[in-house]
Amino acid sequence: MAARPSPCHNRAGLGSALARLRARIIACRSCPRLVAHREASAAVPPRRYRGERYWARPLPGFGDPRARLLVVGLAPAAHGGNRTGRMFTGDRSGDWLFDALHHAGFASQPTSRRRADGLRLRDAWITAAVRCAPPANRPSPEEIAACAPYFLEELRLLRHARVVVGLGRIGWQAYLRARRTSGLPRATRAPRFAHGAATTFPDGVTLIASYHPSQQNTFTGRLTRAMLRGVFTKARRLVCRSRRLGQPIARVPGGRARAGGVARTTRPASACPAAAGLHPGAASPPPTRRERIPSTPPARARRPGTR
Ligand code: SF4
Repeated sequence: MAARPSPCHNRAGLGSALARLRARIIACRSCPRLVAHREASAAVPPRRYRGERYWARPLPGFGDPRARLLVVGLAPAAHGGNRTGRMFTGDRSGDWLFDALHHAGFASQPTSRRRADGLRLRDAWITAAVRCAPPANRPSPEEIAACAPYFLEELRLLRHARVVVGLGRIGWQAYLRARRTSGLPRATRAPRFAHGAATTFPDGVTLIASYHPSQQNTFTGRLTRAMLRGVFTKARRLVCRSRRLGQPIARVPGGRARAGGVARTTRPASACPAAAGLHPGAASPPPTRRERIPSTPPARARRPGTR
């Protein structure tokens, strides 16, 4: 008897598998401290959000189910995602993140204010290591471990992901841990967390580390808009060199087409159909020296940070 295809091999199956995962996440109450915090934040909102109806439940990931870019954050903000019901929506971190995603052609608009604001992600999926807002943005190791199975399941379903951006050390580590748990091959050199540092694994997936666009980092100048845009411009170039698994391999002048695995073409970012026409920054040619990802802010603005 022929083996049944996994749900992630067809669009309808993938959609319903993601919907089932979403329902499980939204109903979760496994971490008493985080459940109490997400609900208390909704019960006593700051003056500017008084009268708003908070989501006050765990947040599922969102985006394009066939995305080649996966963005892994830390956790929702108590008055951001926990209020609006969508990750990185309605807070300052989201302003920075969607500016950079839009610049690189992954988002239809540079802002994310409410769930019904018309934002669409293209070839990108946003998720987080922890689904409930933690007090002081600090989940405990036990809470991170309790939430990890949801991320693992998401990774299993999002099989087109070729580039992963870890926002902050916790998001970056969550992806590395998930790979280990899933038995995926390790990198030949130990991954290193530094802004813009990339690690490519033997299965062709590249993990890029980024400072988290938290106010702690953006207010102090540890992370600038140019630094964050640089990470997603790099992600765009890597995504454009890959292809979705199961897609027919297009023969690209100057490139080499392969059956199975990652297509090792030399297709330039400017030829990427996903990027073409989306945004001037999306299909840009390789960066000049001045455009390369700044890994550190200007010396005058540098401060120690925790994320
Ligand atoms: S953080 Fe994750 S595991 Fe904990 S209650 Fe929220 S969804 Fe459940």
